[in-house]
Amino acid sequence: MTSIGERLQALQTRIHDAEIRAGRLPGSVQLLAVSKAHTADSIRAAFSAGQIRFGENYLQEALDKQLALQDLPIEWHFIGPIQSNKTQSIAHHFDWVHSVDRIKIAQRLAAARGDQLSPLNVCLQLNVSAEASKSGVDADGLIELATLVNHLPQLRLRGIMAIPAPTKDEAQQRAQFRRVRESFEQLKDKGFALDTLSMGMSDDFPAAIAEGANIIRVGSAIFGARPSVANTVNQH
Ligand SMILES: *Cc1c(COP(=O)(O)O)cnc(C)c1O
Repeated sequence: MTSIGERLQALQTRIHDAEIRAGRLPGSVQLLAVSKAHTADSIRAAFSAGQIRFGENYLQEALDKQLALQDLPIEWHFIGPIQSNKTQSIAHHFDWVHSVDRIKIAQRLAAARGDQLSPLNVCLQLNVSAEASKSGVDADGLIELATLVNHLPQLRLRGIMAIPAPTKDEAQQRAQFRRVRESFEQLKDKGFALDTLSMGMSDDFPAAIAEGANIIRVGSAIFGARPSVANTVNQH
């Protein structure tokens, strides 16, 4: 069996190759290791291999692992659907939230974050393929949501996150990621100072990198297949 460290190294090589192929600067794409359904020990192994950013989808599961890993300076990213009764805890226990998709959630995160902590880094989740996921703001609502988040000093608007419909067809992957990038660029053209395009997972990250992703969120290529109970993306 291949170790987590070896899989991480192989993945870094594939990221590097995708950067080169896309004419991007080596090192311009950050890897977020998605550890949902995997143990604190697996996270510890990845951390020992040099990985410092981890993404989690389910709050309680994440809090349990954070407690077990308190000794490590991990950067925690929340990437799952957000229920409004979880915003307090999410705002306190994460450095980033990728899945903000409505005004009420943004306001609650901001209120909970308060002025003592540094602003919470936020991406707006864009729904690019309505059939794939009910989560995410649609392109029409994006500017309104971005404007509101920009006015909440406890949040720092960083960019856009998306989970396109899974497909093996690389041209189709590219087309979906391109739509996300176009929305990202439209926001920047309107004056929003964004630096983060969070898209691409184990099966489609090379296409995401080709279309400008600078955070890719990869789980199974690092940690192996997830136990079936949590083997769903973005569903509850
Ligand atoms: C699970 C998950 C990932 C990682 O998926 P893999 O296919 O295991 O790489 C990325 N982003 C989100 C939002 C997820 O829920």
